[in-house]
Amino acid sequence: MPTLLLTATVDAGALDPTQLAALAALGVLGWRLLAIWLFPYAPCRHCQGTGRHRSGTYWRPCSRCKGTGRRIRPGRRVWNWTRTKHTDTAP
Ligand SMILES: [Zn+2]
Repeated sequence: MPTLLLTATVDAGALDPTQLAALAALGVLGWRLLAIWLFPYAPCRHCQGTGRHRSGTYWRPCSRCKGTGRRIRPGRRVWNWTRTKHTDTAP
């Protein structure tokens, strides 16, 4: 009898919308962490990832990303901050 009761409880829990939402939120969070881990860089917003921008008739290196065309995602910045020993040198 206790086994049947436990099974019924688990089934009811799996169908609970609140728990489903919590599971979905956990899945999204895990996916974001995976994306931060796999793809630490995003295109620079200032130059749209080109690494340069037009100043009048001339192309100049983007001042925001120093010509690399990429920026570190905010989540990855936090990740790096937690992993470094908080010195002045950026990774
Ligand atoms: Zn840029």
